[in-house]
Amino acid sequence: MQYISTRGSAPALDFEGVTLAGLASDGGLYVPQEWPRFTEAEIAGLAGLLYPELAARIMTPFVGSALSADELRELCTAAYGRFAHDAVTPLKQFDEQQWLLELFHGPTLAFKDVALQLLGRLFETFLSRREAHLTIVGATSGDTGSAAIDAVAGRDKIDIFMLHPKGRVSDVQRRQMTTVLAPNVHNIAIDGSFDDAQASVKRMFNDPAMASSKGGRFRIGAVNSINWARLMAQVVYYFAAALQLGAPHRKVAFSVPTGNFGDVFAGYVAARMGLPIERLIVATNVNDILHRALANGDYSAGTVTPTAAPSMDIQVSSNFERLLFDCGGRDGATMAKQMHGFETTKAMQLTNAQREGAAGLFTSARADADDMARAMRWASEAAGDIIDPHTAIGLHAARQSGIAADIPVVTLATAHPAKFPDAVERATGTRPSLPPRVGDLFAREERFDELSGDYDALAAYVAERATESD
Ligand SMILES: *Cc1c(COP(=O)(O)O)cnc(C)c1O
Repeated sequence: MQYISTRGSAPALDFEGVTLAGLASDGGLYVPQEWPRFTEAEIAGLAGLLYPELAARIMTPFVGSALSADELRELCTAAYGRFAHDAVTPLKQFDEQQWLLELFHGPTLAFKDVALQLLGRLFETFLSRREAHLTIVGATSGDTGSAAIDAVAGRDKIDIFMLHPKGRVSDVQRRQMTTVLAPNVHNIAIDGSFDDAQASVKRMFNDPAMASSKGGRFRIGAVNSINWARLMAQVVYYFAAALQLGAPHRKVAFSVPTGNFGDVFAGYVAARMGLPIERLIVATNVNDILHRALANGDYSAGTVTPTAAPSMDIQVSSNFERLLFDCGGRDGATMAKQMHGFETTKAMQLTNAQREGAAGLFTSARADADDMARAMRWASEAAGDIIDPHTAIGLHAARQSGIAADIPVVTLATAHPAKFPDAVERATGTRPSLPPRVGDLFAREERFDELSGDYDALAAYVAERATESD
């Protein structure tokens, strides 16, 4: 399988290449050259497989010849062996129509583990073949940081530098990062906001002194959802859930709490592969750029409003570019022009083809603080289930979607409620407790450095500690 950039001018790469590259060199995102299709009979044949085996089958066409069948199966078995539930992503029933897909049984309690546990192992496999070293630099508003650190801690050929905005992540989220004391893990608290941290990271990817793709000293890698391998791993649980609910003989709808459009784009990929999906409901909080874009074609970024669902407090949804590319006729040159316009003005209109293409599968909804709290209370009162604020936004959207009563609607539960105990307690009166697998998180030693938001100080910090690329 070859991958091409949404902006048309970066070289095509194979699966190993896109996994290590992250962002394409023309600023675009990599997508498969064509979508693999499973027939109805092939999908029916996937029913009943254990999760790691299902994962290997779904990923095989994307991986192509980059891994042998045995290698891929072993990586999946190891990655999903880290999950606390045997089903990996179990389904729960709320009522006749509403279901919950629990994606938070991994080591760091959010759905990011599903992809990052695999990605860490893919990095290690590909780097040892090349005798190469990878320097991961990322910024996190909470969940990606801990999941990425857990996935790569102690791995030989990888250093990870994770920036979090000082004082702006929850105690649980910070401790999940800073109590990992492996020598290849470098936590940095940055003075400033998440956006400031993210801006420094982006600058490093383009710094000719630092990034090997620009002639610099370090092979800089990405762990956020611009990395194709993350989306590929997330396609699997759409199949897992739909198969349990009767696919391919019955359609299923999904409601997805959305920030960077990564998780819900994986649902789109599942549909392109042949999984009969009735609807994908894009659920946003008051940071509703995606809701506006899907409802009336207006993709324009405002300022970020902090909410009780911080992982969705995003104004620019990177992966939306993948959808616009695919729906808009896969024209890289036009896409590059459209995105450069957006980068300049922070606003753009979708084309008719993009709007119509998206409307075939997606609807959207926006939840404010009251909607979110009400959904948490409903889950608690109607089903005795405590859900997190992000999941609550998905459930709100699912319950008001108007989907025909005979079609199951599955809300993706993206985080464990104990990651956000204050918001959950405010809404439901119940304070969720951390599951035993996180251990003595609050007793462990923390280690992190503090840096000002200054880019040169960050670059010097990384250069002093990272290993040169090859
Ligand atoms: C990352 C995250 C999201 C948003 O996922 P995207 O792939 O960015 O759309 C939603 N909920 C939680 C808990 C998250 O950590």
